[in-house]
Amino acid sequence: MPLDTLVSGRIATFAGGAGFGWVEAIGIREGKVAFAGSAIDLETRADPHTQRIELEPGEIAISGITDAHLHLAGAALAAAEINLGEAPTLNGALDLVARAAARIPEPGWIEGSGWDQRRWGAWPTADALERVAPGRRIALRSADHHSVWASPAALRAAGIDAATPDPAGGVIRRAADGTPDGVLLENAGGLVEDLIPPPEPESIVRAVRTYARELLALGVVGVHDPGSLALDPTNRAHAIYRELAEADELPIRVHACIRADGLDDAIEGGRRSGITLAPGTEGRLEVGWLKLFADGTLGSQTAALLDPIEGWTGEGTGRGLFATSPEELAALSRRAADAGIATMIHAIGDAAVRAALTALAPAARDVPFMPRVEHVQLCHPDDRARFKALGVAASVQPVHLRADAAKARGDWGARAESAGYAWRSLLDSGAVIAFGTDAPVEPADPWPGIALSVLRRDPSWPGDVPPFGPTEALSIEQALRAATVGPATTRRDRLGGRLVPGSPADLIVLPEAPREGPERAAAFAEVRPRLVMVGGEVILER
Ligand SMILES: [Zn+2]
Repeated sequence: MPLDTLVSGRIATFAGGAGFGWVEAIGIREGKVAFAGSAIDLETRADPHTQRIELEPGEIAISGITDAHLHLAGAALAAAEINLGEAPTLNGALDLVARAAARIPEPGWIEGSGWDQRRWGAWPTADALERVAPGRRIALRSADHHSVWASPAALRAAGIDAATPDPAGGVIRRAADGTPDGVLLENAGGLVEDLIPPPEPESIVRAVRTYARELLALGVVGVHDPGSLALDPTNRAHAIYRELAEADELPIRVHACIRADGLDDAIEGGRRSGITLAPGTEGRLEVGWLKLFADGTLGSQTAALLDPIEGWTGEGTGRGLFATSPEELAALSRRAADAGIATMIHAIGDAAVRAALTALAPAARDVPFMPRVEHVQLCHPDDRARFKALGVAASVQPVHLRADAAKARGDWGARAESAGYAWRSLLDSGAVIAFGTDAPVEPADPWPGIALSVLRRDPSWPGDVPPFGPTEALSIEQALRAATVGPATTRRDRLGGRLVPGSPADLIVLPEAPREGPERAAAFAEVRPRLVMVGGEVILER
């Protein structure tokens, strides 16, 4: 049988455990790589109907990027809400809110995200919202999506007043007299978010369809979606993605996770990790992991730490908090494993990472996918080797370091650079590493993070800021593997993310051949593919 497509040029197959695995040509048949090798060998298998794609001199082809941690529906919808990340000051943010209030008719909620009290130099307040949008119900998520800035009307609707106790795993920020000031940390945010009517399925469908095209233009051909950013007892996004896949309008591969509150629904529906959610759509939509949360975030100072935040003078121990207790993490992941569902656990601080590894350990070898710890921003050196030993993968988002470096140095002191964002040490210890962006927390563009993992600094940092923990730098080849092979490996898929015989023919053509060296890595921060192929089909060509 002749080949459908013959791609020739300089092609990285990522065959084996290390290196680029360069070949001169790959042959594609029925959406999969059929052969990889020399151009002359493959020429003999082509016929006049074989489509030919010849790379330009200097170009390379690699497998398409999979983002191992991207909240698909959330990121798609966020693209349509107020983006406070665009506001350098609190007043700028209030302007955006005032404009949204004029646009969105009452009694509709005004929603948005992207605020950061450190960038503004102060916590925002409910009173400030009341001045620009009196009487309106407003819920604005922080940049890390772990806290909510709410208006007085929103607080009233949620019944939050001076007498309301802090919920488990959350804090209602208050004035000296106990009056809520408008910021709800961690689980307290749910008191308001639960009131917001969920978006209509049609608007999610529309947003995801548009957003998937944007991902492809970046070279992203697949995502592991940790699930909605809000409670989701019925895994609503699954039905929406399925509708898109069945209409042939889901051009990327999606691995959709389950939230703790959706676990019963998933078990009842027989949803195991790796099974298809849209029969007949050729690996376009699968069940991913159960997603749990061990702790909060660096930005909100709620990451669970073994040792307190440097110079801590606030309330409590300064060691952050567990959003889910270690016992509960273990019980839920066991329950999921018994139903064939692997678990991933959000863990930022070193105490959370330690607890997550312990919770995942008992069932690590019994589940279809590798269990994963998400973020792993601070990992005690004693815990590094446990990833390989237990068979648990580390899912990390290098682009977080762009905004985190200064905060991490401040809050974690010397620990930040000796044990933080330690991707090289994790790799050297034998851990499987998968890259993602955590969009909409960060933009979905994978390339700045890839460059940052090699350079350990970001072009946005002032010139006098040194690289962050420079011994933790990856090579370009390690970084590209973490963005392609890594995510597939966490699904125990030995062909995905590579271009070897049997692999899905998902590839991107890049203008720059990667070589070692800082200039090359920096150029990668802005790279865009000239051609994107998914399942053997050219979806985008510039
Ligand atoms: Zn996330």
